[in-house]
Amino acid sequence: MTDLTRRQFLQITGATLAGSSLALMGFCPSVAIAEVRQFKLARTTETRNTCPYCAVACGIVMYSLGDGAKNTHSSIIHIEGDPDHPVNRGTLCPKGAGLLDFVHSPSRLMRPEYRAPGSDQWQPISWDEALGRIARLMKQDRDANFVTKTPEGLTVNRWLSLAMLAASASSNEVGYITHKVMRSLGVLAFDNQARV
Ligand code: SF4
Repeated sequence: MTDLTRRQFLQITGATLAGSSLALMGFCPSVAIAEVRQFKLARTTETRNTCPYCAVACGIVMYSLGDGAKNTHSSIIHIEGDPDHPVNRGTLCPKGAGLLDFVHSPSRLMRPEYRAPGSDQWQPISWDEALGRIARLMKQDRDANFVTKTPEGLTVNRWLSLAMLAASASSNEVGYITHKVMRSLGVLAFDNQARV
C-alpha cells in the first residue's frame, strides 16, 4: 500500500466527498449531457380563463393536451396564473393554485339537475331544458308580479319577486352586461357570489 501523508489523505477524501455530493445533487456531467429535457407544456393548447372561486377574479392559463386530433379528448394538465392579467400578474392564492383538482374532481357537477317540488331526488336534465324552464318561469313570474306604479301613482317599473345571484368568475365586462340585463328587466335584488 502506498504511504500517504496526512495532507495527501485530506486532499483525496475531500475531493471524493465533494464529487459524490455534487453527483447526489444532480451535477453529473455525463447524465446531464446525455439527457435533453423536454418542456412539458410545449405541445399543449393554452386557454385563458378566470378563477371561479372569489371576486378577485384572477386570470388563469389552462394548458390542455389531446385536442385537434381524431378520436382524442382534450384534457387540462396544468393551470397557472396568467402573467398578462392586470388583476393578479401571474400569481394565484392556494385556492386558485389547486384549480386542477377542481377541474378533475369526480364529484364535479357537469350538467344541470332538477328537483321537482316535494321530491328528494335530483334528476339530470339537458341545458336546453334547464334554460327553457328558467326563461319560462321568469316570464310567468314577471308577468304576474311586475310593478309599474306605486299606489301613490309614482312610476317604479320594478320586479321584486325575483333575485339574481351572479357568478364570481365573471369578468368586468360580463358583470356589466349581467347588471344591465337584470336592471332592464326591473330586478332590484341583485348580488354577486363573492364571499365563498
Ligand atoms: S380564489 Fe385566489 S386565485 Fe382565485 S380569484 Fe380569488 S384570490 Fe384569485
